[in-house]
Amino acid sequence: MSPFYGEITRLDLDSHLGPNMETLMTLTPERTDNELAQERRLVTAIPGPKSMALLARKTEAVSNGVGVTLPVFVAKAGGGVLVDVDGNSIIDMGSGIAVTTVGNANPYVVENVQRQVAAFTHTCFMVNPYSGYVEVCEALNRLTPGDHAKRSALFNSGAEAIENAVKIARSYTNRAAVVVVEHGYHGRTNLTMAMTAKNMPYKDGFGPFASEVYRVPTSYPFRDAPLSGLDIAKRAISRIEKEIGGTKVAAIVIEPIQGEGGFIVPGAGYFAAIAAFAKANGIVFVADEIQSGFCRTGDWFASSYEGVIPDLVTTAKGIAGGLPLAGVTGRAEIMDSVHAGGLGGTYGGSPVACAAALGAIRWMEEEDACGRAKAIESVMLPALAAMKVNHPTIGEIRGRGAMLAIELIRPGTMEPDPERTSAVAKYCHGEGVMVLTTGTYSNVMRFLPPLTMPMHLLEEALSIVERGFEATG
Ligand SMILES: *Cc1c(COP(=O)(O)O)cnc(C)c1O
Repeated sequence: MSPFYGEITRLDLDSHLGPNMETLMTLTPERTDNELAQERRLVTAIPGPKSMALLARKTEAVSNGVGVTLPVFVAKAGGGVLVDVDGNSIIDMGSGIAVTTVGNANPYVVENVQRQVAAFTHTCFMVNPYSGYVEVCEALNRLTPGDHAKRSALFNSGAEAIENAVKIARSYTNRAAVVVVEHGYHGRTNLTMAMTAKNMPYKDGFGPFASEVYRVPTSYPFRDAPLSGLDIAKRAISRIEKEIGGTKVAAIVIEPIQGEGGFIVPGAGYFAAIAAFAKANGIVFVADEIQSGFCRTGDWFASSYEGVIPDLVTTAKGIAGGLPLAGVTGRAEIMDSVHAGGLGGTYGGSPVACAAALGAIRWMEEEDACGRAKAIESVMLPALAAMKVNHPTIGEIRGRGAMLAIELIRPGTMEPDPERTSAVAKYCHGEGVMVLTTGTYSNVMRFLPPLTMPMHLLEEALSIVERGFEATG
């Protein structure tokens, strides 16, 4: 349907791909449907004068508690770029934190949303239902790991999905305790603040927090060596058994690849061992796939890499091409254990967000989004590995698909270097490349490009990141 997103073109990825790697990449063309030239273009300083004027208004109108990473006010976005109110075109290596996986203003999403808002905008699914909600649940049941009978329920945000996964697990098990892990991130509401590890900025001053939340060790291979993922799993399991009691735990909630914690990929065996322990103890195993899901890592869901079939999966972020939507999907007997009326919310599964999700999911299926994420990885990993050779501040490169990161250390030590991380990010921002930092120690640069990123912009962004390391060395 879209002349731009529909054409499959064989790209010459020349030196980046191994000789055996046959990759079909859809070429995002010179311009997107919303007429954005796919180029990095700086016409003012970053931020420019119009953004600065809006920033002054923001300071007067918006709570100081709502921070901004890079104050360029966006006018349009699509393909691989954000265009600001001053006319600068910035390469988007963040996707609004893994949300616009299908590209900003993806035409499949735009068309579905436009059709839906013209038909009706809201009924409240709990009052008068509509088919889009059911279709999104059918898609979630089909796409999440495992072929057992599943049910889904829809919400507005990731944190709300996590809250509801905990409600469902407690209702099903008739137990109270919730186990989470070090470096975990699950949101900013009261319960999810308790489940999130990092104090600043997420929790500081916002307590008291919800009770019955327990934190156990996570596998962080870069910092655990020589211990294996399995060693750490044993340690975590022992903590649960000794300090809580396996039969007291309603749910274990874990990200298969930790997002805000620093794109930490657990060591081999960790995730599967925790899932097996949950199964043996009647604990609901919840995979928080809010950041890692929907083809971000090169598979529909990152749990699959570990061969794990979670009892419940939480989704949000990439699900609806930028509209607010979240889901909890899981075993029918667990999801159906809740009394009718026990789950819901005024806007949960809004018809407009559902229409967007159906467009986004169709695009992911038709355009081989998982293959695109893998192709992005095959360009980025060798380029980042080459950077590591020249810059000893790069301690580790990790991640999967289009969810990749660099952890920065003070050379020759394991000490995190948040200052250098922030300096490299600032350099990139000034040069028109949107990058995000993250991590418990704020020393991780993370890359989450939209899967519509044209290869020439990806390569340009990488060369600017490299220059950022050179300029701050
Ligand atoms: C972003 C995120 C959340 C919270 O989602 P919101 O939509 O911001 O509430 C929860 N878990 C993970 C893994 C996330 O990345």
